[in-house]
Amino acid sequence: MENDAFSDLTKHLLENGADLAALSSPSDPYNRLSQTFPELSEEQIKRVCAYGEIEEHAAGDILYARGQKDLDFFVILDGSTDVLETLANGTQHQLQKVKKNQFSGELTMFNNRESLVELRVCEESRILRIPRKNFRRMLIGEAELSEVVTRAFILRRTAYINHELAAVTLVGESHTSDTIRILQFLKRNGIPVRTVYADTDTTRAEKLIGVCQRERKHLPILIYGKNQVLNNPSNRELGQTLGFTESIEDGHKFDVVIVGAGPAGLSAAVYASSEGLDTLVLDQFAPGGQAGSSSKIENYMGFPAGISGQALAGRAQVQSQKFGAKIAVPREVQSLNCEPGKIELKLDSETIVQTRSLVIATGAHYRKLQIENLEKYEGIGVHYAATSVEAALCSSEAVAVVGAGNSAGQAAMYLSQHTTH
Ligand SMILES: Cc1cc2nc3c(=O)[nH]c(=O)nc-3n(C[C@H](O)[C@H](O)[C@H](O)COP(=O)(O)OP(=O)(O)OC[C@H]3O[C@@H](n4cnc5c(N)ncnc54)[C@H](O)[C@@H]3O)c2cc1C
Repeated sequence: MENDAFSDLTKHLLENGADLAALSSPSDPYNRLSQTFPELSEEQIKRVCAYGEIEEHAAGDILYARGQKDLDFFVILDGSTDVLETLANGTQHQLQKVKKNQFSGELTMFNNRESLVELRVCEESRILRIPRKNFRRMLIGEAELSEVVTRAFILRRTAYINHELAAVTLVGESHTSDTIRILQFLKRNGIPVRTVYADTDTTRAEKLIGVCQRERKHLPILIYGKNQVLNNPSNRELGQTLGFTESIEDGHKFDVVIVGAGPAGLSAAVYASSEGLDTLVLDQFAPGGQAGSSSKIENYMGFPAGISGQALAGRAQVQSQKFGAKIAVPREVQSLNCEPGKIELKLDSETIVQTRSLVIATGAHYRKLQIENLEKYEGIGVHYAATSVEAALCSSEAVAVVGAGNSAGQAAMYLSQHTTH
């Protein structure tokens, strides 16, 4: 880490099972503090002041709470604030101090999702509050600031994901299909998650099960906020409860609706929203599509060193949301009704979405092996991806990769670093 101020955080991270190797990596956000928590120059401060109002705050004032939506953007002019995470036992822990000339926020500022953290004033402070709609105006009008803010937000979320901070806690048996489903769904949607496996980390799991007044038969359980618990939630329930299923206003007519958030759908979203079109992207699972399950894509233009599918999808998602696109997951489009002058999409929950134009980017569905009882093992021992989730599940096992194309070769190369054979 860059300086001693973060030694407390390092200790906390390691106590919570963070990977020392990740913390020592030069690309870790905590080793790039000047980019992750930048200080604005006096000249930049002068410019941002045009977008908001200065407020006086006392110690203890809460600028936003965990779970709150529609957050404003705050710049500390004098004094300081704490960013606090809520742990599974309900206690709060300081993740970071936002000091003079630094700013609040992370990726939730680009969408209408719930805040993962609380922002609380530490001492008497002068704080610039930029209302959400002015924040968007600022991003468009101030290109240099937009770059600083966007990079910081991406790095902050990466830090949360890598070090399991501001995270929900998943307690379950490893190698059960529902535990794996929930883990994959959260990871693919960029939600920080801390996993406690009841079969390998029994003491910690038993303690959490007890605190939540559940029994082993209820596993997997998901703990979020202050001891709030979901028993084996469906993907839909996860999206709604954790606040990342964006609501779609009844009767609203979009300029463009894109079905599918794979590389094709996300590219369309970036171009449509950057042209000022009112854009909605719908995906039944998560942004990234097939590419989201690729450990490394070497042939995507602009990334000469290669990029993981999930990182690519994450960047495209942020880029389109920065221009105002809405990405709604997990929302499956069940049917279309197209007549002259009218396009309607029926979603899983009977919601009807109206649009002036439609892009279908639903990708491919793959053939499955003709093996008896295959479904019984899907998600337990049979997987259709080779990401860090599957690699962790197979870490001490022999694995067979079926297929002979690029993806199979890539999966074999990647898994050979993590498995016994
Ligand atoms: C493991 C792996 C590695 C790969 N590596 C590479 C590589 O290195 N280089 C390369 O060029 N290509 C690679 N590919 C192929 C590449 O990922 C695909 O060509 C690309 O993802 C296709 O993009 P797409 O947006 O057209 O469709 P997809 O990526 O298939 O995305 C379609 C999306 O539509 C959603 N969807 C489908 N139906 C509905 C519905 N009814 N309602 C709502 N949403 C729906 C799906 O959930 C999905 O997210 C790889 C593929 C895999 C699986």
